Amino acid sequence: MMRMSKYYAPTLKEVPNDVEIKSHELLIRGGFIRKTASGVYTYLPLGTKVLKKIENIVREEMEKIGSQEILMPIIQPAEIWQQSGRWDDYGPEMMKLKDRHNRDFTLGPTHEEMITTIVKNELRSYKQLPISLFQIANKYRDEIRPRFGVLRAREFIMKDAYSFHNSEESLDETYEDFYRAYENILKRLGVDYRVVEADTGAIGGNKSHEFQVLAEYGESTIYYCDCGYYATDEKAESKLTFEVENEEEKEIKKVSTPDVKTIDDVANFLNSSKEKIIKSLLFKGRDGWVLALIRGDYDLNIAKLRGLLKDQTLEMGAPEEIKAEFGVETGFIGPVGIKKDNLKIVGDLSIKGIKNGITGGMEKDTHYVNVNLNRDFNVDIFADIRMVKKGEPCPKCGKPLKEAKGIEVGQVFKLGTKYSEKLNAYYTDEDGRSKPFIMGCYGWGVSRTLGAIVEQLHDDYGMLWPRSIAPFEIVIIPVSMKKPELVEKAEEIYNLLKDKYDVLYDDRDASPGFKFKDADLIGIPMKVVLGKKMKDGKVEVKLRYEKNAEEVEITESFDKLL
Ligand code: ATP
Ligand code: MG
Ligand code: MG
Ligand code: MG
Repeated sequence: MMRMSKYYAPTLKEVPNDVEIKSHELLIRGGFIRKTASGVYTYLPLGTKVLKKIENIVREEMEKIGSQEILMPIIQPAEIWQQSGRWDDYGPEMMKLKDRHNRDFTLGPTHEEMITTIVKNELRSYKQLPISLFQIANKYRDEIRPRFGVLRAREFIMKDAYSFHNSEESLDETYEDFYRAYENILKRLGVDYRVVEADTGAIGGNKSHEFQVLAEYGESTIYYCDCGYYATDEKAESKLTFEVENEEEKEIKKVSTPDVKTIDDVANFLNSSKEKIIKSLLFKGRDGWVLALIRGDYDLNIAKLRGLLKDQTLEMGAPEEIKAEFGVETGFIGPVGIKKDNLKIVGDLSIKGIKNGITGGMEKDTHYVNVNLNRDFNVDIFADIRMVKKGEPCPKCGKPLKEAKGIEVGQVFKLGTKYSEKLNAYYTDEDGRSKPFIMGCYGWGVSRTLGAIVEQLHDDYGMLWPRSIAPFEIVIIPVSMKKPELVEKAEEIYNLLKDKYDVLYDDRDASPGFKFKDADLIGIPMKVVLGKKMKDGKVEVKLRYEKNAEEVEITESFDKLL
């Protein structure tokens, strides 16, 4: 019998002082988690119970789409990360350690290198494809600012899955499977969520989506439109690639910035660059600034570019020279994709507010859609790979975009052959040729989900767990432990319910008010209270979501109430 008097759930009345948001406060006060070090937590019984329930939902949805569970080591040898180039590139988030022989290892922040190494010699034929493997395990990231409890931790639990394919179509199918599985998980968790586009346009053509639990204090910003368009502002946080010319050697090469988030990052990069930029990839970032790729007659040198970046009239993407030449009033809008390698437009541009025609009979003040840049006019301008900002036109329908806050709980990504090529993971295709695997990867933050749900679902009294993951579904509370008839009946009801529900028996010798407070704090969906009405064979049933209690016969099923 699960007795509260023996249950290790140390609840607190006080709010811990390093706590910034409600979910963190409630998980500590409710006795779900305890901090061991910054971003490192112990899960107490209540926390562990919820975690296991989340884990099970995730596992079931993975199994439904045919993904197979494995368990990889957390400690990974440096060599595989050196091979992929990420030993240096991943940055300070990576936890590194040495063994007694001075060999380098990492506590895995993610497992692309590891899984690729594992399958590479044993997954050999196209006949074995597609295949997907997943694990649920600890991950380590030395976050610059661990905070919000389990939401941004340094040790956390992730479900990570990886898939292997011999065609893009096959990858597309599996990507769709994971997309749907993730939606199922969120539905079963009972939270309000949004799926947002997360493809990093400037990083490459790869597709990605994030799954965001809506919450006022979420760290992610989501731009959305009633027509169904969603995107995250992280799309703008990416490397910029410039094609540059070394004036002495007359050599043309490509350089990439470090991750840029603000216009200052770009300006700093440009300031430190000694080369002449002959192609500049310009795009709109977080602050609403615009960059465009300009070449040909509109070569920009660094000085000019810097000037342009400061020019607020560039908001809509057209540099002054272009405006003068073509009389573009408000510039270019619309979804435009940019391929990293050749910096070519892969999408369509729409143009509005053109004063003078350019080519092909474009007219004054006409809104053109599906105008193809290279076909319909002859200047390469790459503007605004995303227009996702509050108030700006939705790339799908043109209505002003709205803004919301969310917590990223999952992300799916088409990796292509990036890791298989670097780590020499090849299979033999139908035509007898050796080819690198086409890969996908799919992450889910299991421990972050715990915090995200509380962040969305709580009230002034505590957590509001949906039944699917509540630590207990029902708590039985006799109003007094001094009345043997109540105690006896409480145990009887416990036994009646225990096979069907996850039940807790609050047998502590405390006031009903005290017990109610704890039950509300830890968010148990239903209280069954034994009091005065016992003599008529009735108990009081109170749902966590509702103000009023209901009297029901003990023999009645509780199903319809939960
Ligand atoms: P974020 O943008 O919040 O830093 P991420 O994009 O770096 O997350 P991914 O690499 O996509 O994270 O990892 C997959 C999932 O792992 C995320 O969607 C998130 O749910 C979870 N996750 C990532 N970092 C953390 C962390 N520091 N603490 C808890 N969960 C995390
Ligand atoms: Mg991160
Ligand atoms: Mg992210
Ligand atoms: Mg992510």
